Amino acid sequence: MRKKIVAGNWKMNKVDGEVKTFLSAIKQLSYPSDVDLVVVPPAVFIKEVTNVLEPKKIYTGAQNCSEYEEGAYTGELAAKMIRSVGAQYVIVGHSERRAYFGEKNEVLALKIDQALANNLTPIYCCGEKLEEREAGNHFKIVEKQIEEGLFHLPIEEITQCVIAYEPVWAIGTGVTATPEQAQEMHVFIRNLIVKKYNQQIAEKIAILYGGSCNPDNAKELFANLDIDGGLIGGASLKPEEFIAIANSFS
Ligand code: PEP
Repeated sequence: MRKKIVAGNWKMNKVDGEVKTFLSAIKQLSYPSDVDLVVVPPAVFIKEVTNVLEPKKIYTGAQNCSEYEEGAYTGELAAKMIRSVGAQYVIVGHSERRAYFGEKNEVLALKIDQALANNLTPIYCCGEKLEEREAGNHFKIVEKQIEEGLFHLPIEEITQCVIAYEPVWAIGTGVTATPEQAQEMHVFIRNLIVKKYNQQIAEKIAILYGGSCNPDNAKELFANLDIDGGLIGGASLKPEEFIAIANSFS
């Protein structure tokens, strides 16, 4: 049985008071015990979020980490710092990092290494742009992202990773991939893992869907065999919506 995971990426949203309001509200809500819930706030809030949510068995994550271990890299956050304030997960290669900060697969591979070396579970994001899908190149693009970002890992490490398929055209747009489009890509990704490693390894790795996932469409998406949960942006900012998504597994 693979883990079911719902992770909420707050991106650059919320100030101190809003974080406190979110935390008081989410503590009151319930969700199935076989779902791992991960709140991914801006890094300045990780410690506070962890302190409040750890007793509720809700995990915390960071939105990015440096490819370097430590040192003179002003403004960067090392994986070991993130781990030291209680986070368990880190998102690597979100499409916004790729698009606005020029992060390439080669650098993302180094970030994955830093995450794993510091006991963080990387959530590695992949996904095609609209024009790439329209040109029929979506499988090729995702294959390259996965190969260059993840497939340098040995078997013991690839099983520590989570993958998030996030078609760029679905992120923050209100346009969700159809369950069929999502399932088709998740099967494709799982088959890449079978080819590179083996079936047993592929069965272990959670593959999340991300892109305008909300309480109205999560059930239909999560009903698919290869969709093991979601990476949620906008809908993760409201505790009720986020928890409603975690309650959407059948
Ligand atoms: C995301 O940013 O990872 C995401 C999926 O955003 P949204 O849910 O808002 O589309």
